[in-house]
Amino acid sequence: MRPRPVVAIDGPAGAGKSTVARRLADALGYTLVDTGALYRAVALAAQRAGVDWGDGEAVGAVARGVVERRELALGRSEQGAVRVTLGDEDVSEAIRTADMGMGASRVSAAPAVRAALLDLQRQAGEAGGVVLEGRDIGTVVFPDAEVKFYLTATSDERARRRWAELRAKGHDADLSQTLADVEQRDSQDSTRAVAPLRQADDALLVDSSGTGIDEVVRSMAVHVARVAAK
Ligand code: C5P
Repeated sequence: MRPRPVVAIDGPAGAGKSTVARRLADALGYTLVDTGALYRAVALAAQRAGVDWGDGEAVGAVARGVVERRELALGRSEQGAVRVTLGDEDVSEAIRTADMGMGASRVSAAPAVRAALLDLQRQAGEAGGVVLEGRDIGTVVFPDAEVKFYLTATSDERARRRWAELRAKGHDADLSQTLADVEQRDSQDSTRAVAPLRQADDALLVDSSGTGIDEVVRSMAVHVARVAAK
């Protein structure tokens, strides 16, 4: 057992994972690892290199390249937001578009991309005292995580949140299109052959529909503290 736990938060798009993971990490004083940001950055790097998101071999090579050259890095801004750098460039904003969400979902289905990002995620979390959020943290990246949550909400609610998030960032988003995107991403993420989105057998199911974020974070923090005290 690690001195401080690895906390895995998995779940579908728009379940509130990013906000909950950030707030939970801050409440516990743990490091935050947003693994979706890594897939988004690979989608962006592929697009810039003129590589088709559906070409598994080629996007795999892009992912291996950025990892081997140590170009891909995660951090936090002074305000606590997730910061992603690709080489010398801060791509934190560029990866948050609906297009890059869809690109991430496409490239993340390629086994070579998942393999290229696996060690990076494990290194970021292995010492413990870390909250990792994604789709396969509790099932593949850290199957031995001391704490696993599966955070979900109804697809209507998730679409509404994603839509509000995009609008708040000044993107021109349509609610019914956002719902269609969320449902398409869920279907892509849960039916892919490698590391599909699913709840780990030992993960605690947290349904955030209709529950305030404070309440969700509080109950999760209590659960982590209980495990950490064992
Ligand atoms: O969480 P976020 O919306 O940023 O993730 C973008 C996409 O990256 C997801 O739809 C999913 O396809 C992929 N992803 C993944 N495994 C992870 C994290 C994200 O496949 N651990």
